[in-house]
Amino acid sequence: MGSDEQAIADRISELKEILGDDLLILGHHYQRDQIVMHADVLGDSFLLAELAAKSNAKYIVFCGVHFMAESADILTSDKQSIVLPNMRAGCSMADMAVLHDVEKAWGEILEQTGLCDPAEPESGENFLIPVTYMNSAADLKDFCGRHGGIVCTSSNASGILEWAYERAGPKGAVLFFPDQHLGRNTGLSMGIPDSRMAVWTPGEKNQIPSDVKIVLWHGFCSVHKRFTTTQVDDFRSRNPNGVVVVHPECPREVVDAADANGSTEFIRRFVAKQEPGTHIAVGTEINMVARLDKQYPELHIECLEPTICPCSTMYMIHPVYLMDVLEKIVEGDIPNQVIVEKKVQEGAKVALERMLSIKQ
Ligand code: SF4
Repeated sequence: MGSDEQAIADRISELKEILGDDLLILGHHYQRDQIVMHADVLGDSFLLAELAAKSNAKYIVFCGVHFMAESADILTSDKQSIVLPNMRAGCSMADMAVLHDVEKAWGEILEQTGLCDPAEPESGENFLIPVTYMNSAADLKDFCGRHGGIVCTSSNASGILEWAYERAGPKGAVLFFPDQHLGRNTGLSMGIPDSRMAVWTPGEKNQIPSDVKIVLWHGFCSVHKRFTTTQVDDFRSRNPNGVVVVHPECPREVVDAADANGSTEFIRRFVAKQEPGTHIAVGTEINMVARLDKQYPELHIECLEPTICPCSTMYMIHPVYLMDVLEKIVEGDIPNQVIVEKKVQEGAKVALERMLSIKQ
């Protein structure tokens, strides 16, 4: 660490000390080391949402991306403030589904399939249940809450889909957005065949069969879609006894070619239980892979794509921004506060709390 970086790190530590228990810094696994070192807790979006919901801290500084901070605001009290060190830290996947397009798709899918809207429970026996990935804007979570739906993360997607199908009725279906890959990989792992999956591409003419089980929004993560089966083959040719673990936001063929797949927390546990000397290729964001590599020197850990870049929006949380927001909080200001409108909070909270109440 250079002297400037050290000075910033020292100042952040001082500011944390001044704020004491009034402050909670949450850090996502994809953050750089210079941020992670200041996080009170490190986790994936599910764990961090749970912690935000349980916290009494007055200021929660979220070192992650915008949708995570929104969820934290929805799950915390009005007396707590959620601060995002850089307001430009969004998520390209979350931006792929916007409320207007989802509402349009919703109406068309109901019409094409003859399924009913859970907002009108007396209207029939078979329903379309909306399920949004945590990586989505608050107004989409609100949409799900208002239409009998729910939020999921990559840690709990299959349990959430089971919940949804229990409510959908024998011929019911799920509309899953924004990540088609997580939806497809989870559906396949639950035994839903390809023939009963359909993709909805906003702006195009989409035809959804009446026996569909899951409609997948045409969204993807720009980091995880870069992993390929050629990379898996290359790793295996160099390491015949090696293992490959990937995130379920990767394309289906990559998940199929891997030995295991799961959320960032799953990947951490998977790596932790490997025998010393094992060669492991990990298909997820590079900051997390590099941290695992440092944490387990007895293993040979590499990123499945050696040239992969970090998530560009997670990378927008720079230590200088963290220091700046803490300085302002100490001065009595609340900078970069993420506030979800009250009318959006209502349904979003319902959808988030439904998720948190399901035991995984
Ligand atoms: S890794 Fe992908 S899904 Fe996660 S914040 Fe970055 S772009 Fe969004």
